[in-house]
Amino acid sequence: MKEKFSSTILQSEALTKYLLETSAYPREHEQLKELRMATVNKYEYWSVMNVPADEGQFISLLLKVMNAKKTIEVGVFTGYSLLSTALALPDDAKIVAIDPNREAYETGLPYIEKAGVAHKIQFVESDAMTILKDFRANQEEEESFDFAFVDADKENYINYHEELLKLVKIGGIIAFDNTLWAGTVALSEDKVDKETLERIGANRVHLRDLNTFLAADSRIELAHLSIGDGLTLCRRLK
Ligand code: SAH
Ligand code: CA
Repeated sequence: MKEKFSSTILQSEALTKYLLETSAYPREHEQLKELRMATVNKYEYWSVMNVPADEGQFISLLLKVMNAKKTIEVGVFTGYSLLSTALALPDDAKIVAIDPNREAYETGLPYIEKAGVAHKIQFVESDAMTILKDFRANQEEEESFDFAFVDADKENYINYHEELLKLVKIGGIIAFDNTLWAGTVALSEDKVDKETLERIGANRVHLRDLNTFLAADSRIELAHLSIGDGLTLCRRLK
């Protein structure tokens, strides 16, 4: 029997719509809504790269419970998760946000400014690994972050994990996004036609490798959540 996957990891598109419309959109910050709409207008299909509103709200709540003050964002795009983070953190907080795509960041920036939280953000136009390695070499940045949100090139997730374990404090959290990759991590190759496998691409394999790796990593406490497209929380233990 052929296995199927849909663009939502929930049971149906209707359930995703229900969740967003009932619980998430009515509580979405005005500028998050504006940023989301501006992203759809400019990037159309690729606007799916923004975390969904319910996941943004989860991240916000988590950051507040943690009392986070210094965070790092690996992969910004137009900044939905970044603005969710900036709104959740206290006024003197610092967020380092790294992405080589300045144009996408600048698409979201007017809404970040309008929300009055731009002063918390240091945007770095760069490949993330270069910056993480620089930070590691700089002792001041070592073990200084409360939280990291990783949402960039999936083939580097394991490498980001190694670098971030040195930059995040003991007790801090590294969060990896898209770790269920639309449910495709569970597809078995012999049951999927070639065309589907090509469409899913190599990220399915990268994320499966990451999931296996993290499950065996004794340096962290792990919670793999089925929110959004899958979100894995790693709490640094040692
Ligand atoms: N976190 C964002 C979405 C990020 S989409 C949100 O939820 O709103 C993924 C982003 O990763 C893209 O903007 C892409 O430019 C960026 N990216 C890809 N490779 C990268 C790299 N090597 N370093 C940093 N960012 C990268
Ligand atoms: Ca993502």
